[in-house]
Amino acid sequence: MTGRTPPLGDQRGLWQAVLAAAAGRCQCRGTCGKNHDKDGGRCPTVHGGYGRRHGNGPVHLLAAAAAPDSLLLPPHQAAALPKAELAAWCPDCHDATRRAAGKARQASAAATGPDALFDL
Ligand SMILES: [Zn+2]
Ligand SMILES: [Zn+2]
Repeated sequence: MTGRTPPLGDQRGLWQAVLAAAAGRCQCRGTCGKNHDKDGGRCPTVHGGYGRRHGNGPVHLLAAAAAPDSLLLPPHQAAALPKAELAAWCPDCHDATRRAAGKARQASAAATGPDALFDL
């Protein structure tokens, strides 16, 4: 193996593919904790559009793991996810979903954690 493909090129193509599959719209379906029901069950934020908070400039959607749990993967593992497991996220939904997944993981870790921790 002599030639190496720069990872950035791959990632940019992947981002474009994910955004195209999502029609440039955030694919959050309420995992962020916000109720997107009035928007058809899906976040209305579109890439390059303006979010609810004006004055922040155009929204830049992210390509990240579609499953909330996978948003907690370390970057090198997240970067290895295939396109089928990625979704377009607006920054608000991405951050909130990631926080919620982290909390859920902590809660389940505490529930299944070593008894000694609670056996005081
Ligand atoms: Zn969103
Ligand atoms: Zn959302």
